[in-house]
Amino acid sequence: MERDAVIIIGGGIGGLFCGAILAREGFRVTLFEQHRVAGGGLHEFCRDGVSFETGMHVAGAFHPGAALHRLCTYLGIMDRLSLLPADEECFEQFDVEGKQYRFPRGASRLVEALAAEFPTERENIRRHVEAMYALCDEDRLYDLRLPTPIQHAPRFARSVGEFIDASTSNERLRSVLAFRNPLYAGDRYKTPAYIHAFVSKLYIEGSTRFVGGSRQLADALVDVMTRAGGELRVARGIARVEIRDKAIDHVVSVDGERHRAAWYISSIDPRSLFDLLDRDKLQRSYCQRIDAIPSTYSAFSLFLVFKPGAFPFFNHARFYMERHEDAWRQADRGDKEWPRGLMCITPPETTSDRFARKMIVTCIMHFDDVRQWEHTTTGQRGETYEAFKREREERVITRLERVFPGIRSCIKSAYSASPLTIRDYCKRKEGALYGFAREHDHPERSHLSTRTKLSNLLFTGQNVHLHGILGVPVTAVETCSALVGMEYLLNKINARVV
Ligand SMILES: Cc1cc2nc3c(=O)[nH]c(=O)nc-3n(C[C@H](O)[C@H](O)[C@H](O)COP(=O)(O)OP(=O)(O)OC[C@H]3O[C@@H](n4cnc5c(N)ncnc54)[C@H](O)[C@@H]3O)c2cc1C
Repeated sequence: MERDAVIIIGGGIGGLFCGAILAREGFRVTLFEQHRVAGGGLHEFCRDGVSFETGMHVAGAFHPGAALHRLCTYLGIMDRLSLLPADEECFEQFDVEGKQYRFPRGASRLVEALAAEFPTERENIRRHVEAMYALCDEDRLYDLRLPTPIQHAPRFARSVGEFIDASTSNERLRSVLAFRNPLYAGDRYKTPAYIHAFVSKLYIEGSTRFVGGSRQLADALVDVMTRAGGELRVARGIARVEIRDKAIDHVVSVDGERHRAAWYISSIDPRSLFDLLDRDKLQRSYCQRIDAIPSTYSAFSLFLVFKPGAFPFFNHARFYMERHEDAWRQADRGDKEWPRGLMCITPPETTSDRFARKMIVTCIMHFDDVRQWEHTTTGQRGETYEAFKREREERVITRLERVFPGIRSCIKSAYSASPLTIRDYCKRKEGALYGFAREHDHPERSHLSTRTKLSNLLFTGQNVHLHGILGVPVTAVETCSALVGMEYLLNKINARVV
C-alpha cells in the first residue's frame, strides 16, 4: 500500500533511519541533505590516503538481541555491516596518575575487575552498576520495547554527580566511575544520571566498531530507502520552510525549488530549523523554550596517520586523564592545562589488524576557544587559525606521549578538526558534540517531543532525547511511530527475535 509523501530534512543518522523505516513501510520519502553526501556523523573524510570517521568512533548495541541488532535486522542490513566487537577482556582502558584500569565486557565481570582494584568497595561498585542497569530498565523504548505509561519522571531525579557520589565516598573510585563522561558531555551537577547509565551500559554490554569506517551504515540505510522507492537529494539543503494554518505548506531547497509533502521530519537542530521559517507563525513560548536549551560542548579531534608497521593496533577505547581530580574538569573554559583528558582509538581496517594505520584522538573543546574565527569558512580561516590548530595538535601529541611513549616517532602525518569544523560540516550550532544538553533540574526543557506545534512536522535526531548510536536510531523509531503506530512498528522490529 502506498502511503503519504514524507520530506526529511537532514541526512544524518536520524534522517537516514527515518528514511529507511518509512520507505520500507510504504511512504514516499524524499530526503534532503545539504552536504554532497549523506551521513552526518557517519561521514568519513580522507587524508594522506587514509579514511577517517568524523562522528562515530565507538558503537554499541549491535550484538545479537540488542536494540540496534534488531532494528538493523528488520531493515535487512545487519548482514551488510562489518563490525569488530571490542576485546572481551578490555573494552575500555582508563589511564590516570600512572595507573591503568582495564574494563572487561559484561556487568558482573566489570564489577569483579573494579573490585580487584578497590577491594573494600566491592558492594558499592556492585550497587552502582545495578542502579545504572535499573535506570536503563525504566525506559523500555531504549530497548525498543513498548514503553509503559509512567516514563521519564524518575529519570531526572538525580544528576550524574549525585548518583556517583552516592555510590561511594572514595574519591579515586568516583573518578574511575566518572571517566566516561566526555562520551555524553557530562556535567557533574546538571546531566541526569540516566544518561550516564545508558551510555555506560551501551558500551559495557557491547562496545563495537565499524571495520573500514562508519560510512557503511549510511550507505546501507540509503540503499534500503532508495530500493523501497525513496529519493535522496544531496547538496540540496533546505533553505526555507513556509508555514500556513499551523502546518508546513512547503519547503524550498537551496536551488529555489519548492517541495510539498503530507509530512515533514526535521533531523536538524530545531533552532536551525526555526531560522528557516517565520517564527511569528509559531507559538512564541514554544520557540523561547527551545531557544533556551543549552548545547553540549564541542571537541577538538586529532587524526594521525602512522608509518606502516610502526604502531600496534589496540581493540578498545582508551581514555587518559592526568589526575583523578580532573574527572569533571575536562570541560573547564579557558583552561591553561588543556587538554586535561583525551579519548583515543585505532579504528580497525580489517578484523585482524596487527598494526594501526591511524588513530583518532578526541578532546573536549568549547566553541569560545575558536570564536574569534566564527565568521570564517572552511579553508579560508587564515594563518592565526592554522597556528592555533598546530599548537593544539602539539599539546595533544605531548599528552599522548605519556600514554604511548615513543608515539611521536610513529606519526607520518597529522590533521585536526576544531568546533568550527563540526559546525560547518554538520551545521550544528557552535559545533555541539551531542546537540542539546540535558539538565536534571530542567526536565521540561531537556525532553523534546517528536511531535511539534506544527501539525505535520515531526522532530528526530540527537536533540530530541539522546545522542549517538543508540539514542538517535531509537528516536527515529519513535518519530516514525507517529506515522505508523508504535506497537505496530515495534512488533515488526522484534518479530524475528525469539
Ligand atoms: C567528534 C564527534 C565524535 C562522536 N563520536 C561518537 C561515538 O563514538 N559514538 C556515538 O554513538 N556518537 C558519537 N558522536 C555523536 C553522534 O555523531 C551524533 O549523536 C549523531 O551523529 C547525531 O545524528 P543526527 O542525525 O541527529 O545529526 P547529524 O549527524 O548532525 O545529521 C544532521 C544532518 O543534517 C544535515 N543538515 C543540516 N542542515 C540542513 C539543511 N538545512 N538541509 C538539509 N540538510 C541539513 C547535516 O549536513 C547532517 O548531515 C560523536 C559526535 C562528534 C561530533
